[in-house]
Amino acid sequence: MIRFNDILEKVNPYLTSEDIIEVTKAYAYSAKVHAGQKRHSGEPYLIHPMEVTSILADIKLDKESIITGLLHDTIEDTLATKEDITKIFGEEVCSLVDGVTKISKLKISSTFEKQAEDFRKLILATGKDIRVILVKLADRLHNIRTISYLPEERRKVFAKETVDLFAPLADRLGIYWIRTELEDKCFEVLKPNEYKEITKIFNHKKDEWEKYSSEIRSLLESQLEKFGLDVVVKTRFKNFYSIYRKMIKNNIDSDKLLDVKAFRIITKDIASCYAALGAVHSTWKPIPGRFKDYIALPKSNGYQSLHTVVIGPFGDKVEVQIRTEEMHEIAEYGVAAHWKYKIDSKDRKKLIDLPESVKNIFETQTLSNPREFIDAIKDELITDFIYVFTPKGELRELPIDSSVIDFAYAIHTDLGNKCSGARVNGAIVPFSYKLQSGDAIEIITNNVRQPSKDWMKYVVTSKAKSKIRSSIRSVISKDSEKIGREILGKKLASYGVDILDAGVLEKLRKFSTENNLKNLENLFINYSLSKVNIAQILDCFDLGVKTKIESSQQNYLNPENAIVVGGSTNVMVRMANCCGAIYGDEIIGYITVGRGISIHRISCKQILGVDPTRLVESLWDNSYNLKSSTSLRLYCNDKTGILSEISNLIAKHESNIIKINARKISSSKSSIYLEILVKHARHLSEITKGLDSIPDVYSVQRLYGPQSEFNLHEKNSRI
Ligand code: MN
Repeated sequence: MIRFNDILEKVNPYLTSEDIIEVTKAYAYSAKVHAGQKRHSGEPYLIHPMEVTSILADIKLDKESIITGLLHDTIEDTLATKEDITKIFGEEVCSLVDGVTKISKLKISSTFEKQAEDFRKLILATGKDIRVILVKLADRLHNIRTISYLPEERRKVFAKETVDLFAPLADRLGIYWIRTELEDKCFEVLKPNEYKEITKIFNHKKDEWEKYSSEIRSLLESQLEKFGLDVVVKTRFKNFYSIYRKMIKNNIDSDKLLDVKAFRIITKDIASCYAALGAVHSTWKPIPGRFKDYIALPKSNGYQSLHTVVIGPFGDKVEVQIRTEEMHEIAEYGVAAHWKYKIDSKDRKKLIDLPESVKNIFETQTLSNPREFIDAIKDELITDFIYVFTPKGELRELPIDSSVIDFAYAIHTDLGNKCSGARVNGAIVPFSYKLQSGDAIEIITNNVRQPSKDWMKYVVTSKAKSKIRSSIRSVISKDSEKIGREILGKKLASYGVDILDAGVLEKLRKFSTENNLKNLENLFINYSLSKVNIAQILDCFDLGVKTKIESSQQNYLNPENAIVVGGSTNVMVRMANCCGAIYGDEIIGYITVGRGISIHRISCKQILGVDPTRLVESLWDNSYNLKSSTSLRLYCNDKTGILSEISNLIAKHESNIIKINARKISSSKSSIYLEILVKHARHLSEITKGLDSIPDVYSVQRLYGPQSEFNLHEKNSRI
C-alpha cells in the first residue's frame, strides 16, 4: 500500500521546502474529507488520490498539479466546496480541481459523435490548462490499474471509453508510457482471448529473445565503441495492443510480429545520433524505405528520434531507434517533459507550451457544431481506425482506408455479396471512396449482383477479402456448370439427342458415375473445362456416328483457313495462347482491340468474365482436314521400355510425335512431356484413352497454355 512518504521521496528532488509544506497540508486535508470512504477494492478511498499523485510525481509535475492530484475527488465526492479549496489552497489549485471535477461529471456516451462532443466539453472544461488533462490522465490510469475491482458489467464500457478517448489523448500529449499502459490494460479487458494468445506467445519466446537480445546488444555496443561513441543500448518491447492492431491491420500472425527485434540507442547529443546511425548502417544492411528522420522532422506531439530497420546478424529484421537523452524523456513523458525542461527558466507562460496538434484541439473550442468539431479533431485523435455509422446510427470501427465494401462485409456477408453501391452522408460514392470518421453509410443492394475481382482493389479488411475470394470461386464453378450444360446440350442436339429428355439425363448420370465424376453437375463442369470429350459421351448413346477420321495431310493447322467466324472465313483470326485449341474443340471468338479475333476454347477461363457483346460465334470449317499440334503431360512409373510403349501407341493411332521429353521426378516416377500432331479433338481423345490404359501410366493430362510446356523445357534432358 502506498505511503505518503513515497510521494515525498519523488517530489523532494524538484520541489522547494515551502512547496512540500503545502503538499503535506493537501494530504492532511484529503485524508480528513475522504475519511471513512472506501473504494471498490475495499481499501480506504485515500489510496486513490495518493496513487494518482504518485503518477503525477513520476512525470515531475509542478506543486499545483501535485496538490490537485491529492484533492481531485474532494469537490465531487466529499462535502468540501470550491470556496473551501480556494480559501485553503488558492484560486489556481481550485480551478484545477474544478476542471478535473467537470471532466469527471461528463457523461461519456457510446457513439463517436457524442464522444467528440464530450471531448469538446472536456477541453472546454479544462479552461485551456493542460495540467487538468494530465491529472485526469493519471486519475484514469490508476482507475484502469484497479479495473478488476469494478463490477464486471461496467468494466468493458469503462475500458472502451479509455481506449477510445484517453489513450489517444495521452498519445497526442506524447506521454508514451501512459498510452501503452492504458491500451494494454484495456486490451486485456476488451479482448481477453486475443490478449491471452499474444502474451502466451510472448512468454514462450521470452528466454530465446533475451538470449538473442543480449548478443545483439553487445555486438551493437562494441561496434559503436569502435566509432568512438559513448551510448547506452536498450532493448525494447512493443506494447501488446499495438501488436494486436498491426496484426488486424496487416493481417499477419502475432507470432511474426513478436519476431521483430527492437533496440534503442541513447546518445549524448544530436551529432552522435547521426554518427550512431552511420555505425549501424555500416555494420548491417538497412532495409530501404524504412529510415525515418524524426529529428529533422519531429512528430506533431514533439517526438524526435531516428528510426531504421536493418537486417541483423542472424538474417532477421532489427528495428533501431536512436535519440538523445532529452529526446528520450520527451518521448516517454511528452508534454510533461517539456515542462520539466522549462521549469528552471521560471517562465510560467512557457509551461503551457503545447504541441501544435494539441493547440489545434484547443483552438477548435470556438466551433459550435459537433460535426465540425469531429472534422477538426478526427485527424488529430484517431490514427489507425475510423468510426462510421450504420443507417440506424450504430457505431462501427474500421481500419483506416476502408471502403464501403469493407463496411458492407463488416455488417453482414450477404450485404457485402449483394452490394451494388453506397450512399455516404446521403450522396452516392464510388467503390474507390475511402471512408472517413463520422461518415453515415447506407449500402445499396441488388439481388443479382455478385462480388467481382475488381473489388479486391478497394478492400482492406481481411473479412471482405476472404468473402470476395470465396464468392468468386463459387461463381466460377456455377458458371462452368451452366456453360457445360449449355454446350453439351447444343452438341448433343446436333446428333439429335435432347438433353432435357429424362432417359438421356439418366444415361449421362450413369456415365458420370462410371467415370468417377460423382454427379451430373460435375460432368457439366468437367465438360466445360474440356476434361471430358464429347466422343466419350456419345459412346453411351449408340448413335452409330461416324467417328472414322479421314485423310491425313501433314500440314500444321493454319487457323486462318480453318475457322469460320460469324459465317465468314474472310476474317483475321489467331489462336489464343492460353487455349491451345485443336480442330474439333468447341471454340468461340473474342473481338480484340486492333488484333482481329482471338480464338479460345469455349470453356477458357480467360473469356469467362469478358464483355459478352465482344464474343462472336466461331466454328471449325469442316472442309479442311488439317493436323494440329497439341501437348500432353503424362505421369508414369519409371520403367525401362515405357517410352517405346508410349511411342508405339501413338504410332498405332496414326499420330506423329513432334517432341518427347522425360524427366525423373522421384526415384521411381517420371513426368513425360509429349507434343503430337492430331487430326481432331476426337482423335486426341482416342489417343489419351489409349495412353491411360498403359498400366504404368497413371495420369494423362492435356496441356492448354504455353507456360506448362515452358516449365518442363527448362530442366529437361532431351531424349
Ligand atoms: Mn479519481
